[in-house]
Amino acid sequence: MNNNFVFPNTDFKTAKNLDRLDELARYRQEFFQDDPDLIYLDGNSLGRLPFRTLTLINQTIENEWGSQLIRSWNRGWIELPRRLGGKISSLVGAHPDEVLVSESTSTNLFKLTLAALSERPGRKRIISDVLNFPSDLYILQGIIKLLNQGHELVLIPSRDGITIKTEDLFAEIDANTALVCLTHVAFKSAFMFDMATISQKAHENGALVLWDLSHSVGAVPIELNKCEADLAVGCTYKYLNGGPGAPAFLFVRRDLQSRFLQPVWGWFASKTPFDFELDFTPAPDLARFQVSSPPILSMKAIEPALDILLEAGIERLYKKSQQASEYLIYLADQWLVPLGFELGSPRNVELRGSHISLRHPESFRIARAMIEATPPAVKVIPDFRVPDNIRLGITPIYTSFVDIYRGVDRMRAIVEQRTYEQYSNERMTVT
Ligand SMILES: *Cc1c(COP(=O)(O)O)cnc(C)c1O
Repeated sequence: MNNNFVFPNTDFKTAKNLDRLDELARYRQEFFQDDPDLIYLDGNSLGRLPFRTLTLINQTIENEWGSQLIRSWNRGWIELPRRLGGKISSLVGAHPDEVLVSESTSTNLFKLTLAALSERPGRKRIISDVLNFPSDLYILQGIIKLLNQGHELVLIPSRDGITIKTEDLFAEIDANTALVCLTHVAFKSAFMFDMATISQKAHENGALVLWDLSHSVGAVPIELNKCEADLAVGCTYKYLNGGPGAPAFLFVRRDLQSRFLQPVWGWFASKTPFDFELDFTPAPDLARFQVSSPPILSMKAIEPALDILLEAGIERLYKKSQQASEYLIYLADQWLVPLGFELGSPRNVELRGSHISLRHPESFRIARAMIEATPPAVKVIPDFRVPDNIRLGITPIYTSFVDIYRGVDRMRAIVEQRTYEQYSNERMTVT
């Protein structure tokens, strides 16, 4: 066991000391925070706003949209999807010409899945798992209905509700499998798949593999090329801090780009959009996976945080993420498990992404009490995920050890003092 992951005691002083030793601590001030008593543990749903983004967006609106108007397209706007893709490529172990920013994660999954299935005609099985994000499964279900060719979605069960056994997955990958479509880090439990062995198994059987990186990009190292991944999609508003509903990214392996064709033939997918030809000719490269005019303001907002993450380096981010999540579990074991909480994430740090789920029968009301606290109590923002998970996101670039200490300490107080009993079980639209 790595010494970084052994903690001397549950004293507040230890949390402060860990922050003092944290090489990434200085990056915290790059992010907007106006309430010192707000503990934000939800950066895996919506990352914080970088100050650099605030400045850049104001400048873009005034100088580029305001003054330069349409001339801005030729002064950098048109290249944004590729330029941002190039920066994301270094976070996911891909070549710069393999990643593109466009549309949403769900839409990109739709485009790439259809491209993949038409490259494996005759094969009828699509493999995913019960821990996958529902939107991904809905997209696959919709595609099967649309194609009406007898495809089958096979969902690998979870034996413990937290992990998927590799042997259970491998047992279903066969010569009739067209596509293995998995989320690298599970949104609820944070279970992380072994990308290399799964890609290899899929390829041995002639299947393609598509990874959803939404819950891993920016927090854990990803090696798409080394793992010989075929296709990938991912989100930029979580650990990448790109802003609410920020455009997503897609990855297509170099040698597949000129063969695979996605089904939404917008003008930006065509070889020469500004020739206004009547018949569609796809762009020869990654550009064919675009659809429409990129949403420039939202795209611009992605870049400053990417620069900050690249400067920090994914190895350091991952080390911090592991140490911080181990610290959270250490405190939870001491303080929360005796109060009826259970760990809803893998205990082995190697099998986890950067969030921790804690389960309790009263999780919903506890989460409300965390969010709606009145001073002097601190407010803590986690996610609630049905049926009983409180999900605590650790964003290595700005979550501090003191944040974790104060967050877990507050949860202990809410349960010990039964503060949650003042709250109802009524659900809000977004949880
Ligand atoms: C967050 C997330 C998405 C988001 O999908 P959108 O289409 O951007 O709303 C998709 N898949 C996974 C695994 C996610 O975690």
